[in-house]
Amino acid sequence: NAEQFDVCIIGAGAAGLMCAITAGRRGRSVLVVDHANKVGKKILMSGGGRCNFTNMYSAPENFLSANPHFCKSALSRYTPRDFIALVEQHEIPYHEKKLGQLFCDRSSKDIVRLLLAECEAAGVQVRTHSPVRIDQLGPPHHMTGPDGAIHCESLVIATGGYSIPRMGATGFGFDFARDLGLEIQPTRAALVPFVFEGRKLEQIRDLAGVSLDTYSEAGGAGFRENMLFTHQGLSGPAMLQTSSYWHPGEPVSIDLLPEIDLAEHLRELRRSRPKLSLKNALADLLPRRVAERWCELWLPDKPMAEVSDADIEQARQRLKPWRVWPAGTEGYRTAEVTIGGVDTGELSSRTMECRQQSGLFFIGEVVDVTGHLGGHNFQWAWASGHAAGEVI
Ligand code: FAD
Repeated sequence: NAEQFDVCIIGAGAAGLMCAITAGRRGRSVLVVDHANKVGKKILMSGGGRCNFTNMYSAPENFLSANPHFCKSALSRYTPRDFIALVEQHEIPYHEKKLGQLFCDRSSKDIVRLLLAECEAAGVQVRTHSPVRIDQLGPPHHMTGPDGAIHCESLVIATGGYSIPRMGATGFGFDFARDLGLEIQPTRAALVPFVFEGRKLEQIRDLAGVSLDTYSEAGGAGFRENMLFTHQGLSGPAMLQTSSYWHPGEPVSIDLLPEIDLAEHLRELRRSRPKLSLKNALADLLPRRVAERWCELWLPDKPMAEVSDADIEQARQRLKPWRVWPAGTEGYRTAEVTIGGVDTGELSSRTMECRQQSGLFFIGEVVDVTGHLGGHNFQWAWASGHAAGEVI
């Protein structure tokens, strides 16, 4: 007397719900279970409460993976246009913030409502407060939930990554895959602020709240974005993006004046405004508090007329780029995503089905595909969920 479903999906987040909708529309009987008290908690908190639900320019180059080609198939078959069409069909007002990033005008709740309305229309059952145990893989697969035994032909793991444990994130998907003997790419927190310690933190701590435009690089990848000084270190989109490419012990290079040839500019000021102090010259280019701090720490504050070529070179070296060695990151407590996960070599890029285990699928963040900041992670969740939903 076990409950029978064609499809059971563990994890009612972005990927799991999209997968359920796609399969339900094809006439499959679908159950989605989640151990949390409500569905889509990360959607609700995403984009500062306005959910950056996709990016108009999402492309394979916006994703990190041990196999950068893996994401192409799913992304090409469910595009940002497809999700935008769904948003428009539900008359959800949205806007482009910048760089193709689409946000809800009102609230992330609109996206969760959309997904639940689509689930209902497709006859999908969604159960919260439902931790499950996988007893035996089939098909049919055998599980036990709070209400007893559940059997299904297709089992989809959509439990996401480790980030924000207080929102219900667990390592369930990674542990389950590991127990099955599947390859896992090493996991680490990404899209996460950097933290500093000791003297390095003291040097910048009271700049907390100051932000500026930068070109920031780590691990060979660079981003033109805003950086924010915080009480613990550095954050803002520029730092979140570079954190995905950074490894402990490596520096982050931050060009604090990406628009300017600083040496040329200072030489020109030495000729045209000899009485101007170096500090004030820099304060015309940078937030004043940053200019003042850089002069306190590293640069001579003297009239431009007295500034030597060596001083100019020193200024260039401290600003273009400023090289810093973070002590670490804030970790999964605040990270937007987990890098790494189920190795893509274990899965079909067309269907997300596990090569070694028929009827078993992995979708969303649990897979070793991680997007840049700006709506790409949800686009991967929609696309990978859709890819599996079309075949299960
Ligand atoms: P999730 O959305 O994490 O869903 C996994 C689900 O599985 C959860 O509901 C969880 O409760 C459930 N679960 C976990 N373990 C178990 C278990 N053992 N049993 C049953 N259920 C379980 N991305 C963007 O593209 N745009 C943004 O604006 C954006 N903002 C973000 C802001 C924050 C603060 C955070 C943390 C992330 C943000 N992201 C954003 C990233 C995005 O939220 C994730 O990439 C995306 O939610 C991943 O979807 P998923 O369905 O794979 O996993």
